[in-house]
Amino acid sequence: MRNRIYLCLAHMSGKEMDYIKEAFDTNWVVPMGPNVNAFEEDLETFVNDLHGDTPLDKKVVGLSSGTAAVHLALLACGVGPGDEVIVQTFTFCASSHPVTYLGATPVFVDSEPDSWNMDPDLLEEAIRDRIALTGKTPKAIVPVALYGMPYQIDRIMEVAARYGIPVVEDAAEGLGSRYDGQVLGTTGEYGVLSFNGNKMITTSGGGALVCRDDASKKEILYYATQARESYPYYQHEHIGFNYRMSNICAGIGRGQMTVIDDHIAHHRHVQELYCLLLDGADGVTMHRNPSDRYDSNFWLCAATLEPGVRVRGEENAYSAVVTGAVGGAAGVTHAARTAVTDCQPDNNVEALRVVLDEANVEARPLWKPMHRQPVYRNAPAYVNGVSEDLFRRGICLPAGPCVSDEDVMYIVETIKSAII
Ligand SMILES: *Cc1c(COP(=O)(O)O)cnc(C)c1O
Repeated sequence: MRNRIYLCLAHMSGKEMDYIKEAFDTNWVVPMGPNVNAFEEDLETFVNDLHGDTPLDKKVVGLSSGTAAVHLALLACGVGPGDEVIVQTFTFCASSHPVTYLGATPVFVDSEPDSWNMDPDLLEEAIRDRIALTGKTPKAIVPVALYGMPYQIDRIMEVAARYGIPVVEDAAEGLGSRYDGQVLGTTGEYGVLSFNGNKMITTSGGGALVCRDDASKKEILYYATQARESYPYYQHEHIGFNYRMSNICAGIGRGQMTVIDDHIAHHRHVQELYCLLLDGADGVTMHRNPSDRYDSNFWLCAATLEPGVRVRGEENAYSAVVTGAVGGAAGVTHAARTAVTDCQPDNNVEALRVVLDEANVEARPLWKPMHRQPVYRNAPAYVNGVSEDLFRRGICLPAGPCVSDEDVMYIVETIKSAII
């Protein structure tokens, strides 16, 4: 029996245990320490690398998760109760949930068809409309590098500057992706990185925030460590959070930084192979870099199916209520109450997911847009139909260091044989 092929599985360099052992040997088993500092330095070197040009001088703060990084970035942008934050609707929930933690409201903006990320024209329309309707300017803009693909950061920054709004780049899926040669997360006011178990590199769980300079890094650190004033006793003048990265996790991160370039190269290789092998498959389209300005890390490889493509078993799609999480999602899920919802992938996409699952390949529909999530039914949304159409037609395929050439060939053969 073939081993299951997962979407993106963590892959160790072998050096992780050395750094963890060092942490134990020196008794730094706390949420700070030498591994955290060294991991931050490694990340700074990585994100500040500008091809050919003078390097940047961004600072990085290690945190307990990417979600925590989004939360603290928004807090530092001054987001509070009653405020609005513009968020790309085509994303994972961690881009928008922290807006609600702060008592603010997300305003969702749809994507452009080629990058699948925030549409800069629609962004401007949304800002103008919010100002006209509420009399207040949104407090931040959160574009997202979905599946690693860059957003048009230059155009987003231009719109943001016109209205004086800070940009928080959610590059959690886009670690190492570049736009015009610059690493994602280094252009906006803040850049969010994630080292969850399924991301480009892992610390088992963790994240980081790319900051403008030392002063902004200090401010983030202050809020990440319970906002303490420097008295001999605990003195609090602000509400803080317990969001600092553990020195053990950072040890894993240091080990991972020794293979990050290899990981990214491998993801890109897997993407190329899918493109090559699926070239002749009618009605199946790989999501690609729209132009030379984009350089995705291809954290996940994504494909769309034309509505006319017929897939084996599609007449049975959604015939049963799903029990348990599809593909083994982390944590506990509530049992689905219905077999269908009013916004879901097409039957042929669901049938393809089932065929792949039965062939021991994990595939997952594209992320369901936030403006179609029941929990956000009252949030304002500026939509053009792009993300919803992609959600209906798209599927994520395995990528990453554990996926071999032979695996890709097997996955593509499985897809081709599923199409009738
Ligand atoms: C994974 C992810 C996050 C959050 O990262 P965690 O480390 O899992 O909290 C944020 N935004 C996006 C788009 C993500 O995919």
